[in-house]
Amino acid sequence: MKTFEEIGIREEVLKAITEMGFENPMPVQEAVIPNLLSADTDMVALAQTGTGKTAAFGLPVIQKVDISEVQPQALILCPTRELCLQIAGDLQDFAKYIKGLHILPVYGGSSIDSQIRSLRKGVHIVVATPGRLIDLMNRNTVKLDKVKYVIMDEADEMLNMGFTESINAILAQVPETRNTLLFSATMPKEIARISKNYMNNPQEITIGHKNEGNQNVRHMYYLVHAKDKYAALKRIADYYPSIYGIVFCRTRRETQEIADMLIQDGYSADSLHGELSQAQRDAVMQKFRVKNIQILVATDVAARGLDVDNLTHVINYGLPDDIETYTHRSGRTGRAGKSGISIAIVHTREKGRMRDIERIINKKFEKGNVPTGVEICEKQLFNLVDKLEKVKVEEEEIAQYLDPIYKKLEWLSTEDLIKRVVSLEFNRLLQYYKESGDLDIPEEGRRVREDNGGDRRTKKRGAEAGYDRIFINLGKTDAVYPKELIEVIKNNTKRRIDVGRIDILQNFSFFEVPESDSRTIIESLNGAEFNGRNIVVEVAKDEKGGGGRGRDSRRGDSRRSRSFRDNRDSSFGDDRRSSRPRRDFGDDNRRSRKDRDSSGVRTERRRRG
Ligand code: AMP
Repeated sequence: MKTFEEIGIREEVLKAITEMGFENPMPVQEAVIPNLLSADTDMVALAQTGTGKTAAFGLPVIQKVDISEVQPQALILCPTRELCLQIAGDLQDFAKYIKGLHILPVYGGSSIDSQIRSLRKGVHIVVATPGRLIDLMNRNTVKLDKVKYVIMDEADEMLNMGFTESINAILAQVPETRNTLLFSATMPKEIARISKNYMNNPQEITIGHKNEGNQNVRHMYYLVHAKDKYAALKRIADYYPSIYGIVFCRTRRETQEIADMLIQDGYSADSLHGELSQAQRDAVMQKFRVKNIQILVATDVAARGLDVDNLTHVINYGLPDDIETYTHRSGRTGRAGKSGISIAIVHTREKGRMRDIERIINKKFEKGNVPTGVEICEKQLFNLVDKLEKVKVEEEEIAQYLDPIYKKLEWLSTEDLIKRVVSLEFNRLLQYYKESGDLDIPEEGRRVREDNGGDRRTKKRGAEAGYDRIFINLGKTDAVYPKELIEVIKNNTKRRIDVGRIDILQNFSFFEVPESDSRTIIESLNGAEFNGRNIVVEVAKDEKGGGGRGRDSRRGDSRRSRSFRDNRDSSFGDDRRSSRPRRDFGDDNRRSRKDRDSSGVRTERRRRG
């Protein structure tokens, strides 16, 4: 391993980075810095976030800038305002001892006028988000004719966010003699195209394998039924009381729902998604950075640019559609040489995607078992004991109360005292988990075992509380899938209906809607046509054959108890939420019953015949 001096870092920069705790160059720095300082070749560097990229391009760039020429000489493009501010901040830190070097971040969502004023005063390095830079270029307020270095950081993210045109426009306006450096965690085709069109014979370096992801990350999965995902998430959070992690969800709605449920259940959580204002997002990110919240529930887009080094966990609340998104998610933990865990809470239908991810990241997912109640009790118990051991005693403040306390408890032995203190919390947890089943689906796909007189999943299901389960005579044969079904409902009711769980079967389907809407739906849909067929809908009978509602007993449990965690209230009674159901498109064949409707009469042959 070389030293920073050996790879050409100057004294004043060395002083600054030593103060920042940098001792030796990280691999990406060792590869990029000498090249940028001497050869001036274009480069494509494939490296994850957290591998030291900012210093890899930042250190040579600040050394190469000619301070006497007060014009933008280096242009750093990045996808988000947060990353923009962070890169500019890092560069300022590296350049602490270089007098007269001006670095300016320009990004959307903030006054363009003050950015124009700063540009007029003169800057050497511009760190920009593409959209804002285009605005400034259109107003002729930024000159790029002296630019010698263009660096694209998180280039794949910029493309994902739809900045391709802006990037093309920017690259077309900087001098052809510049050096271009492109950093990307993954290598989609579009990046290869940019490198071909705008870069001059670029040298390609890869830190790790292409798209491989961070080596310090353990990838684990928990296999549960789709409806148990939230319960599994809570158990993971309970099992890791010091968790500091991001839970990634696919949609804004899901993100908000999961965050709301966690908050309501007493967890230290908050949400981050695109429906929040910039000020709200900033506030949430700040709270998370300073660990005021332990669990951030976020969409992929909103979490971009959030840069936190010491996450213990990344949790995939379901797997993303594309592998690159998974690489980005998991790369948020295990940064700066630390280790991390990326957990995927998946249901059986997602296993195929998991295998695809394994092939690309070149690592196997380890099968984790959703912690059982007993395991959680044990873990929390020892966590409590640990806290008890380490708690700081405010001797002076407590002294005045101690005499009467000693007196009151003097009849108890030390052992009894310990048992009682610990039981204060333990009893509640034990009580809650006593009746909770196992959430794991065994690998072989066998039904889960029954705990305490019967796991609820082994019982046939009816609608969620407050919902009706509706039969409709359209299914896969009619090319009806969840999207089409929702269209049919929307087109015929002419209003927005909140559709819950959907089960698409071969020749017919079931969907759940709020009880208050079911009459409207039945009246509007019955007799309507879909591709020339008459639609038939009715409230489904429960799958035991009796009754119309299938209202099940599982929602009756409203016990609440507190966790050991900092006195906050945690709902332990039924660790599956009884809130509104989320749509689940992934498990339409999950139940073992035959492809027949609830009455058992409408068989495929009869209907088709
Ligand atoms: P980055 O990938 O640039 O966001 O860097 C990730 C983290 O590693 C940041 O906290 C940096 O300050 C830190 N870092 C970068 N280079 C080094 C180094 N050579 N030694 C120690 N820490 C570093």
